[in-house]
Amino acid sequence: MRIERIEARWVHVPISYERRHTSDFGRVPSFDSVIVRIDTACGITGWGEAKAHVGSAAACAGLATIINRDYAPMLLGQDPRDISRLWDVLYNTPREGYAIAKGHGVPQLARRGLSISAIAGIDIALWDILGKSLGAPVWRLLGGRRMERMPAYASGGYAPPERIGEELAGYVARGGFRAVKVRIGAMDGSPRRSAARIIAARAALGPDIGIAVDAGGTWTVAEARAFCRMAEDCDLMWFEEPCSADDKRGIAEVRACSTIPVSAGESEFTRHDFRELAELRAVDIMQPDLAIAGGISEAMRIAAIASAFNLRLAPHLWSGMPGFAAAMHVAASVPCGFTLEYALAPNPMMHELSPTRFPVEDGQIAIPDRPGLGIEIDTAFMARHTIAT
Ligand SMILES: [Mg+2]
Repeated sequence: MRIERIEARWVHVPISYERRHTSDFGRVPSFDSVIVRIDTACGITGWGEAKAHVGSAAACAGLATIINRDYAPMLLGQDPRDISRLWDVLYNTPREGYAIAKGHGVPQLARRGLSISAIAGIDIALWDILGKSLGAPVWRLLGGRRMERMPAYASGGYAPPERIGEELAGYVARGGFRAVKVRIGAMDGSPRRSAARIIAARAALGPDIGIAVDAGGTWTVAEARAFCRMAEDCDLMWFEEPCSADDKRGIAEVRACSTIPVSAGESEFTRHDFRELAELRAVDIMQPDLAIAGGISEAMRIAAIASAFNLRLAPHLWSGMPGFAAAMHVAASVPCGFTLEYALAPNPMMHELSPTRFPVEDGQIAIPDRPGLGIEIDTAFMARHTIAT
């Protein structure tokens, strides 16, 4: 089996003004991602996704170009099933020979950032090809799924204190969700207002619905600690990215100050960043974005670190369909997986890019039996929204 063609496209889907949601990234005008297509000479097509930004809107020309111009020439003619070796070729070139022979990384330059996201997009597509070539879903290749249906939590929660209960109750009614996530942080103006929103949410939902909060890295350590003190009795599932991902020790200080579990990781790259989070005892839950951190292969290594440190894994799932499916397969098969994020803000990169559906019933998503990632891509939709790079 040989790789015949690789194409990464910057797909840019505008979101109409009335449907845009407002987060700490502002009022989000589009959903952008890099969708990777790898074709084999024997007629199998694999789909992957690489992201230039954890949020929706992003300029993706550079990321698509890294895949098309820098990495594709290294992969043409190679056997797409040699995923571990190809990951190391992309990460270590031009010293991949040493890395593979000696069993340790010898990366040259740029081993964080877009070069890793580019590897992620390729890696996800290679796993899709491997699964399709064997007629097996990716979770089967990763060791088997641990449950046929996984709990999902509704991710959204933008309303002010007087309407947050109603907004979240709407999520619970919509898919039977048993857990929700609420955005807090700098956009609230103060930790006190964020705490007021969460106290209102808990009062409205009662004690049996899980509530997580996400500050998106927007607070100082002191602000995050103040929030913890005021929300300590709200029985939160986790407090996500209390402060900047560049301040891992600060995140650890927030974790140490209260009983609220802390999570982070959507802005991190590779197992090496996650090892640091673990060693600093900064988090209870690791949240790699597979389309950023290095794909399915790297997520399995990150999951091993999480498990070894007695931590849990809840992948960041604000992405397009290939990224969502990839993380679902990983979460379903690793010992530290326990929940899936299901974003309720408009996401055309999932619901219009692909005719595939992952319906939420009783707050759970069925892990599919279809080969590979188990998704289809609407190539006509993709063509309509491609930006030339
Ligand atoms: Mg987040």
